[in-house]
Amino acid sequence: NLSRSQIIMEQTERLGAHNYHPLPIVVSKAERIWVEDPEGNRYMDMLSAYSALNPGHRHPRIIAALKEQADRVTLTSRAFHSDNLGLFYEKLCRLTKMDKVLPMNTGAEAVETAIKAARRWAYEVKGVADYQAEIIVCQGNFHGRTVTAISMSSEKEYQRQFGPLTPGFKVIPYGDIQALQNAITENTAAFLIEPIQGEAGIILPPEGYLKQALELCQANRVLFIADEIQTGFGRTGKMFACDWENVKPDMYILGKALGGGVFPISAVAAKKEILDVFNPGSHGSTFGGNPLACAVAIAAIDVTLEENLAERSLELGKYFLHNLQQIQNRHIVQVRGRGLFIGLELNTSARPYCEALMQRGLLCKETHENVIRFAPPLIIEKPELDDALTRIRAVLQQ
Ligand code: PLP
Repeated sequence: NLSRSQIIMEQTERLGAHNYHPLPIVVSKAERIWVEDPEGNRYMDMLSAYSALNPGHRHPRIIAALKEQADRVTLTSRAFHSDNLGLFYEKLCRLTKMDKVLPMNTGAEAVETAIKAARRWAYEVKGVADYQAEIIVCQGNFHGRTVTAISMSSEKEYQRQFGPLTPGFKVIPYGDIQALQNAITENTAAFLIEPIQGEAGIILPPEGYLKQALELCQANRVLFIADEIQTGFGRTGKMFACDWENVKPDMYILGKALGGGVFPISAVAAKKEILDVFNPGSHGSTFGGNPLACAVAIAAIDVTLEENLAERSLELGKYFLHNLQQIQNRHIVQVRGRGLFIGLELNTSARPYCEALMQRGLLCKETHENVIRFAPPLIIEKPELDDALTRIRAVLQQ
């Protein structure tokens, strides 16, 4: 006699490609930080869909914007104008202090867009010889799963048997300013970096590194591109993780929480001289910047600002990190993070702990074998965080 959850999981396993290894839980309902399975069991969401759910599940204002827009117009394609694309640009430009925006749908597509922009900028503005442009990236990076995004990866498993790969990338150690200096040549178009590495296991750069890297880039006419797809919109306790070092990149790559956990939308936001390299026919996407996505993103940006999600993340993150660091367990190597973006590194597999936490009604996911990532929705209340800590201690405290 199988439960509804078991039937659903069996069907998913049988009919779907096995490119994920989900925890054995089916989510059929959700609100704020809480999710529920078909049997009515409730869990706290401590993953936030890899930081896409910063405003929590089904934020009422974002859902209202979605419904209002759905009743008017959902898709025009960019063959015509829509009446909220300009407003979306204005909101995102103001938030990022950038001049221009190019909208896409998923993070990986926005990364591709940034690569195309940087390469064309190198040829047309910087004067790099044709097809010689290089982009410097960091070991342990994660920029998505398209062929070009995996081509930059230092993870052999992300690339295995997916070649031939896209050329033009140089990989240097994360946090090593000398390595960056050595890697830059006259052909360098851009340095692409996550200001905190997410998928690598919540890796913070050494203090001052981002600022020094920016200065090196500026001195060598190299674009500084920040992939803030996972770290943006308050996740790390600042609006953008680059703000930790007062670094203003030449280009932001954004996604995930830009859609408020409701609808996919991504974008690059950049200086005028970079995005002006695109002309009609050079780039596009049928759904990129569609009215439904823009309505949702406008509401998500408003919620992020008006509910002070970055400040909440900063304050609650300090409290959460401090309490997690008090947990005694001989397998814990380090607990680190900024804001509500925390990695708990173990000297053993993290998966059994994630499964035990699930049994206690708390959902999180291992990253890179031995790190548990804690990234609750930023609207979480302090008593709920205390509730989470009680559950985590029950599993981790020895
Ligand atoms: N870049 C970073 C830093 C990410 O964390 C992710 C997703 O985890 C991506 C890019 C890819 O985004 P998407 O999965 O929406 O393609």
